[in-house]
Amino acid sequence: MNEFRADLHCHSTCSDGTLSPTEIVCLASKINLKGLSITDHDTIGAYPEALAAAETYQIPLISGAEFSAVYDQTNIHILAYSFSLDSQIIHDFCDNHCLRRTSRNRAILDLLTSHGMPIGEEELKTCTPHSIIGRPHIALLMVKKGYVSSLQQAFHLYIGEGKPCYHPGTKVSVEETIDIIHQANGLAIIAHPHLIQNVKVVRDLIELDFDGLEGYYARFNNNQNERWLKIAARKKWLITGGSDFHGDIKPNLPLGASWVNDEVFSILLNHFKKNQTSSQ
Ligand code: AMP
Ligand code: ZN
Ligand code: FE
Ligand code: FE
Repeated sequence: MNEFRADLHCHSTCSDGTLSPTEIVCLASKINLKGLSITDHDTIGAYPEALAAAETYQIPLISGAEFSAVYDQTNIHILAYSFSLDSQIIHDFCDNHCLRRTSRNRAILDLLTSHGMPIGEEELKTCTPHSIIGRPHIALLMVKKGYVSSLQQAFHLYIGEGKPCYHPGTKVSVEETIDIIHQANGLAIIAHPHLIQNVKVVRDLIELDFDGLEGYYARFNNNQNERWLKIAARKKWLITGGSDFHGDIKPNLPLGASWVNDEVFSILLNHFKKNQTSSQ
């Protein structure tokens, strides 16, 4: 396939994906993607390994991350693109997310123990060499220890929102997240907007200072697609897209399942290049 496709949403072993940054870049090259962003949850740890691999495999790569935020008690994921990788603000923000996750994971493990499913903190740490540990890692350990039969069951019965071992942890607001991304000279995008069920939250969010929304997503149906494309057009927002690839952990979302074209990717790439040049 010679069509231009750039996947702007995927996760590496730095968060809850199963391929390393280098393996993702290598796979992107193999399936002929022409651009990529690795958007790990709350960390930019995949860079600079990913940048070095992008150089080797000759794939244009832009900075990216997927930040966990909350608006009116609703969890919202915000994609950040093209920010300066040298921004101290983004580094500090990721460090804070890491601390926040450590205490939240501890609270979830306490709840699991009180429900007869003990998992040690050290045990959880050894399941990934990287700093960002989230509920999917806990779910996988629950499967390994025989507490549940699948990752989905772990979420469905225990650690999904509203379930007995769910703990929200401390939250970062959507407004603060947008502000940090902008201070790092990046673009703030609403991730997979179709997952936001609350109509009032959607109405409020589209009045905030976002730069775009994720309009192409592997799990959209046609109606969802049209709805979000219309909103983005009205707001004159960027429309991004990507697969939300996680490797084996979510086998039905292959890399490249959703993508953006040359026009959108060029805007983001130019923005990123300007940031990298001005910081050198
Ligand atoms: P965390 O950031 O630690 O709250 O974990 C959130 C991640 O868990 C999401 O990005 C999804 O990848 C995964 N997740 C959330 N809910 C479910 C679910 N019901 N089934 C499977 N995975 C889920
Ligand atoms: Zn994930
Ligand atoms: Fe997400
Ligand atoms: Fe994601």
